[in-house]
Amino acid sequence: REGESVLKLTPGINQAVPGLAQEVRPVPLENPILLGWSEALATELGLERCDEALLRQLNGEGPFPLPATAQVYSGHQFGGYTPRLGDGRGCHLGEVAGRELFLKGSGPTPYSRGGDGRAVIRSAVREFLASEALHHLGIPTTRALAVLASDTPVFREQPERGAITVRVTPSHLRFGHFEYFRHTGQPHRVKALLEYALARYFPCCLNQPEPVTALFLEVVERTAETVADWQAAGFVHGVLNSDNMSLLGETFDYGPFAFMDRCDPGFVCNHSDHYGRYAFDQQPGIGWWNLQRLALALSDHLDGALMAPALELYRTRLTARYLWRMEARLGLPGDGGLQPRLDRIAALVTLMQESGVDYHSTLRLFARLDPEGDGGELKARLGSRAAWTTWWHGYRQALSFGDLGGWQRGRAAANPSVVLRTHLAQQVIEAAERNDTRPLRELHKALCRPYDDHPETPHLTEDPPPWASTITLSCSS
Ligand code: AMP
Ligand code: MG
Ligand code: MG
Repeated sequence: REGESVLKLTPGINQAVPGLAQEVRPVPLENPILLGWSEALATELGLERCDEALLRQLNGEGPFPLPATAQVYSGHQFGGYTPRLGDGRGCHLGEVAGRELFLKGSGPTPYSRGGDGRAVIRSAVREFLASEALHHLGIPTTRALAVLASDTPVFREQPERGAITVRVTPSHLRFGHFEYFRHTGQPHRVKALLEYALARYFPCCLNQPEPVTALFLEVVERTAETVADWQAAGFVHGVLNSDNMSLLGETFDYGPFAFMDRCDPGFVCNHSDHYGRYAFDQQPGIGWWNLQRLALALSDHLDGALMAPALELYRTRLTARYLWRMEARLGLPGDGGLQPRLDRIAALVTLMQESGVDYHSTLRLFARLDPEGDGGELKARLGSRAAWTTWWHGYRQALSFGDLGGWQRGRAAANPSVVLRTHLAQQVIEAAERNDTRPLRELHKALCRPYDDHPETPHLTEDPPPWASTITLSCSS
């Protein structure tokens, strides 16, 4: 192609590690338009705005200085091993400012397994917004630079329009990459991936006596912390297959994810997950299950005796991070024994569950709570349960603070007023499908400042309407 690339792309892991990726040709969408753009991320990447030339590149039209590539991986999907997966509907363009740029929805690849290689507006917008939402809540996640819509027809349950999400992350390495090379008898490729990952992403592990052990334990810690962040935020990933687990511990691959509205620990967001394998309260256990799959794939380099201390580390980090998040939400000082502290939070979650209240807006009440009073709005929501009085009494005893206003501001900074609720995403998607991007921009802007009050857009911070609970999410995307 003529002309020069707007994106200053440089080669990365796909060029460095043989056997990891194949060259592919993106198939651009027809009449692409920009639906969403992350200004903050663009700045980090040294990009100014999305002009025509850049839009064409993000649509896979080029010109590109390097061939696009798709990676091979495998993974455990819903507990069963699928021996070959891979980037079936996306391609790597290369790196910009040390971060990998990936087009999701850019056409078929050798790994499409009969799929069309496409993504629809619905799923692309959800991934874009979720990446922004989790990032601004301080939860590790892959980022999204842009989301594009088009006139290319894509057939799901009904005809929809093709779209692309531009995903950005330091590394797309998944647990499933290591599983693929290990279980296809290519130990030298497992080793090459480990060497690349150590040098590039875990350099401090290289100083350790057993660098791979150190790397694995680092992944254990990061996974534990990200899962703890989900549990505190009320976020359900929905498809925690080992191919959707990031080596960097980032939230990775948004499909039928959801923030739960009503507090329900057994909440399953994916309509196709009939056994609730990926229910909200299963996520900590599933995180460890996936880490065990990673350990198996790395077993040439790890000592089996490592697994008991690794599990202990996973538990400890997850608990500490969850307590840190939840105690910030409730304004508790975080002293005393672990068990009573965990019990206090669990008792509140049970009260919320039994009262059938909304998780997010109930916790946001702590930003207005007067602990000297009787509980006010919090009592109005939870106070009909017998356990309320005991909980409230214990909570007040555990609190210690000086200035009420300062304490409340601290609670506002820990409890978001706006979260990416399923029905909010649904509303902006329906508008975007009609080429009305105003609601999307409004929600995106609010999600970038989740702890502000947003009085100008009350519909974003109110409890969900009754129809919200009737929305079903499937893997179709
Ligand atoms: P996921 O359930 O999103 O983790 O995807 C599992 C696998 O299916 C991955 O290898 C994807 O690349 C692939 N895949 C998902 N949707 C499509 C599609 N429309 N066309 C081709 N491959 C797809
Ligand atoms: Mg996936
Ligand atoms: Mg996916």
